[in-house]
Amino acid sequence: MIPKTLPDKHKKSFLIFFIVLLGLTIFATVALANFSTIKVDAAVVNVRTGPGLSYDVMSQVGAGDTVNVLETKNEWYKVRLSNDKIGWVASWLVNNTEISAATNTVGTITGEQINVRSENNENAAILGAVVKGTELTVLFQENGWTQVQYNQQVAWVSSKFIEVKAASVQQAPTTVATANDKNANIQTISIRTEWTRIRNGPSTNNQVVMTASQGQNFSYIGTEGDWYHVRSTNGTEGYVANWLVDLSASAKTAPAAQVTSLSEATIVIDPGHGGSDPGAEGSNYYESEITLSTAKILAQQLEQSGANVILTRTSDADVSLSNRAYMSNQAKADVFISIHYDSTPSPNQGSGTTTYYYSDKNKDLAKSINNALAKGPLPNNGYRFGDHQVTRENTQPAVLLEMGYVNNSTDSSLITTKGYQQTMATNIVNALNNYFSK
Ligand SMILES: [Zn+2]
Repeated sequence: MIPKTLPDKHKKSFLIFFIVLLGLTIFATVALANFSTIKVDAAVVNVRTGPGLSYDVMSQVGAGDTVNVLETKNEWYKVRLSNDKIGWVASWLVNNTEISAATNTVGTITGEQINVRSENNENAAILGAVVKGTELTVLFQENGWTQVQYNQQVAWVSSKFIEVKAASVQQAPTTVATANDKNANIQTISIRTEWTRIRNGPSTNNQVVMTASQGQNFSYIGTEGDWYHVRSTNGTEGYVANWLVDLSASAKTAPAAQVTSLSEATIVIDPGHGGSDPGAEGSNYYESEITLSTAKILAQQLEQSGANVILTRTSDADVSLSNRAYMSNQAKADVFISIHYDSTPSPNQGSGTTTYYYSDKNKDLAKSINNALAKGPLPNNGYRFGDHQVTRENTQPAVLLEMGYVNNSTDSSLITTKGYQQTMATNIVNALNNYFSK
């Protein structure tokens, strides 16, 4: 069931949006216990600002270059290039066979109160301080500086004040990718909206150090997850969320690859309704409950296939229809799927599944996914045009699914089961696999 209007709760919804995004980032990112080195095999590999082809290209590495792997997410490696630059490369584009496992080296701080800096020099910004005895994961040593992992980021401490097991530390390989020399990096970050907050760390939990105005430019320093580390013209440093800014022309014109498999795709899953809008009412449940459980099952299966998945809500929360579409647009989703269950004015008047699209260019996608619904145990009512706000305001390929009727006794006994939701999720994942490989 689709509500015609929804109360305007922009402020709250935006907050939820950020919390969901933040939560997803933390949830989906798995840190490697061991750090590894990868030798690049392909002639040119794009280094992106996030783990998916939808992210901007920030740099490139080429054949013979070596990069340090910090984390893996889905089928992407988070890598450290030269000069602290952190980016992501697709695992299938680098030579996996040459990964050399390195032990997880720990260094112990020997000085009383030692500054942790953003770069390997005394003038670099101080990120924090560590006290004697603190143990830090050591990534790298060069020129009297030790690169460590500090608060989920890469940082430096003077080698004078940290004791490491020298034998297991990676010395600076001379072949480390000099990405800066090869390709124009992101130079400038341009603020898209008035009153954008610049924070002292890469999350909405960090303190605001300044507010920026629309069009204001910052120098790009680095990338931390979904945040850019930036510097204003008067020298103020901080972090800004990457969905609030535009990159300089040099980054925008970087070559963009086509998504040719589900593992390269960003999928936004939208569990219909939630919060003050429960959707249609079943016998002892609401539509909003089963759209959420279905969405979570689908999200899990998609992540197992390597897709980058974003849920528009992960709990019984209000998220406006505009924000759901906005999240898809911001994420440059390769596919947006809104999940609903249907209802009729009187019980047992309708049955089965239906797929809706808004834009004609999404007909093929609708057809593919509808084939998946038709493979389920309920009758299928085909795919057709539907004027729904979440698909209408969506700039990305978008469909809305009605996956059975909550007030049909046959449908209801099925759609509330985990088995049904799992089967339908599997069918949708298979359909998306076919859709992307075409
Ligand atoms: Zn609905």
